Amino acid sequence: MDVYNEKGRIMIIEPKIMRGICLTAHPEGCAREVKNQIAYVKAQGKIAMPKRVLVVGCSTGFGLASRITAAFAGDAETLGISFEKGPSAKRPATPGWYNNRAFDKEAAVQGLKSNTLDGDAFSDEMKNQAIRWIKENWEQLDMLVYSLASPVRTDPETGETWRSVLKPLGKAFTAQSIDFMKEEVKEVTIPPASDEEIEPTVKVMGGEDWTRWISLFKEAGVLARGFRTVSFSYIGPEVTFPVYREGTIGKAKENLEESAAGLNKILNDLDGRAWVSVNKALVTRASSVIPVVPLYMSLLFKVMKEKGLHEGCIEQMYRLFSQRLVPGKEVPVDEKARIRIDDWEMREDVQQAVSELWDKVTSENLRELSDIKGFREDFLKLHGFHIDGVDYTRDIDLEADL
Ligand code: NAD
Repeated sequence: MDVYNEKGRIMIIEPKIMRGICLTAHPEGCAREVKNQIAYVKAQGKIAMPKRVLVVGCSTGFGLASRITAAFAGDAETLGISFEKGPSAKRPATPGWYNNRAFDKEAAVQGLKSNTLDGDAFSDEMKNQAIRWIKENWEQLDMLVYSLASPVRTDPETGETWRSVLKPLGKAFTAQSIDFMKEEVKEVTIPPASDEEIEPTVKVMGGEDWTRWISLFKEAGVLARGFRTVSFSYIGPEVTFPVYREGTIGKAKENLEESAAGLNKILNDLDGRAWVSVNKALVTRASSVIPVVPLYMSLLFKVMKEKGLHEGCIEQMYRLFSQRLVPGKEVPVDEKARIRIDDWEMREDVQQAVSELWDKVTSENLRELSDIKGFREDFLKLHGFHIDGVDYTRDIDLEADL
């Protein structure tokens, strides 16, 4: 239970979870988790990286992990953009807000230039603000990592607001899913998207906004020769196809992947390149609300941990930048020009093992057959809870600089 002092500040912060969404975040836990990720990349060793890097969607998940890798393994200066909410008298900030603060603080300690802008990355105002910052501080940009996950986007050209949906196409999809806090396996039926719901999802999560970032930046003359950009996609197994790859979000991801080809044309005269990297399924604020996927992830983590193949966002991003997107080296891609760091997830032996567990899993054997424990821990860690070394019984002053 939350405790308030006379000023209304929350003194003990606990996870408050409703329908797969955690409404609270722990400042000290978030800061410590950022430090843990920094320690991980430092222990792996330095890598060659572009030196002026913008991460759009920098505060959590793959964006935060890319930024940490670029700065602390690649010695890059970074500009980060995200949409987060600071603390109020009675509520903690969003986890990304604490993560950004911790990132900028650690970067300053290391003498690495960093700046974080908070606001709507889909807007032209934010793009222009980033252009101004780049001109004043760097002149030009070497790399843009595009890692937005959002349910809503207002198109700056038309003013129209689009909302994405996570639905199958054509017909309803019935499959097992979990309530990961109650640890219950239950069947869910997701109704099919109407024709009117497909386009908005593509508008929000497809490649239009990524393309706009690069086009406006090119026009403004802030892209350096040899500029590179990467965005993230997902494919996954057949059991999640109806709700993911062959659903509304899959249409958006196809559009994102295709937009890389258009970006390569725009970047051609700068010797620049755009890639989409297909990443592994991981617990993030975005992915934990997708139906069916959390059950698949719990089984996948069990199998991948047993085989010594499990990775989190930071391991994935370190591998992406140290082994795939290496400056001066050819970038290995699949037949659709995509980088694949979902290679271990999609290995035949891994998928075979997950599929066998999928057929057997029930609420009764969930703990034994899946890594539901790891899934829940990862979910709590995203919000700064369940982090080693944090005293969760300690009073927290929300405005204090931890
Ligand atoms: P996440 O929820 O952890 O991060 C999303 C980021 O976007 C946050 O920094 C948030 O602040 C920012 N954001 C959202 N709306 C914004 C706005 N209007 N303006 C500015 N910033 C905004 O998500 P994630 O899972 O790391 O997803 C990043 C990308 O990776 C997405 O394209 C996602 O589809 C892709 N991906 C995710 C997975 C997975 O399993 N999580 C797997 C493969 C690919």
